[in-house]
Amino acid sequence: MLPRPFDFVRAGSAGEASAILAESDGAKVIAGGQSLVPMMSLGLVTPTCLVDITGLELDGVEVLGGLVRIGALTRHRELERSAELRSVLPLAAEAAAVIGNPRVRNRGTFGGSLSHADPTAELCAVALAHGGRVSLEGPEGERSVEIEDFLIGYFETAARQGELLTGAELALPSPGSGTAFVEIAERDGDFATAGAAVILTLDEGRERCAAARVVVIGIDGLPVRLAEVEELCVGEAVTDSLLDAAAAIVERVAMAEDDAFVSARHRVRCARACTGRALRIAFERARGERQ
Ligand SMILES: Cc1cc2nc3c(=O)[nH]c(=O)nc-3n(C[C@H](O)[C@H](O)[C@H](O)COP(=O)(O)OP(=O)(O)OC[C@H]3O[C@@H](n4cnc5c(N)ncnc54)[C@H](O)[C@@H]3O)c2cc1C
Repeated sequence: MLPRPFDFVRAGSAGEASAILAESDGAKVIAGGQSLVPMMSLGLVTPTCLVDITGLELDGVEVLGGLVRIGALTRHRELERSAELRSVLPLAAEAAAVIGNPRVRNRGTFGGSLSHADPTAELCAVALAHGGRVSLEGPEGERSVEIEDFLIGYFETAARQGELLTGAELALPSPGSGTAFVEIAERDGDFATAGAAVILTLDEGRERCAAARVVVIGIDGLPVRLAEVEELCVGEAVTDSLLDAAAAIVERVAMAEDDAFVSARHRVRCARACTGRALRIAFERARGERQ
């Protein structure tokens, strides 16, 4: 199917982009185009105007104390490949490496992924696992929103009309923390059936967890932070019995539904498996027992 005709504007500044977006309901940002263009081709969205933001200086990653700022136009490929970024944000690197295929990773952007808010988007799960704030620029100026409050539903964010996501500041875990991103997809390159992003920080003895952040995808219409599993980990080592208890929590809180591709039951089983594997790997990495 061919997309309907549309205007195309190359924005010269974030302010210009937001002014165009605020003026017209039918205007949409285009960044990497890896979600928007397929949706236009399928007739699922019919923008009257595309506002291309790829000329703006919104890419790159900067460490600011205990935070890392990721520009909206940072490509998945950069998160995956840059040696420097891999050491600062290993969770993002591991997750970015399993997004789609190399073509998608070359074009797709961090800001596009957060704004599109696909329920199984790896980078949404990573952002939620780190915690932090997204920055938005709109007709009324700049504001920032907690990531937990930004991702509000199935392909739904708290961005208002006319707002452009310019980047995010993610909290960096304490040095020596272990992270892991694990997902299951039906075929290589497919969207995940389910997945889990885990950050574990050990106590001084390095035998038990002092803090945990656990996010699961595939069990609801958006990534879910599992506070109960996080609490379960604190003060404990990751053992088989802890993993059984974590799996039971995933099973209990899951709101997955059958869809055209897989059953809800299958998604929940995959989510349980991913959560267990990610917890074990993050723990072993924190203890220096695996890469
Ligand atoms: C074959 C294939 C496989 C894929 N597999 C995966 C996968 O496994 N996991 C995954 O997460 N994604 C996957 N994707 C999607 C891909 O990762 C996209 O790159 C990403 O979701 C969106 O980034 P983008 O820059 O391409 O955004 P675009 O497609 O340009 O935009 C997506 C949406 O976000 C809005 N938007 C973009 N940037 C901004 C911004 N800065 N501010 C406000 N709104 C903005 C657009 O208006 C649009 O509504 C796949 C895509 C394809 C084609």
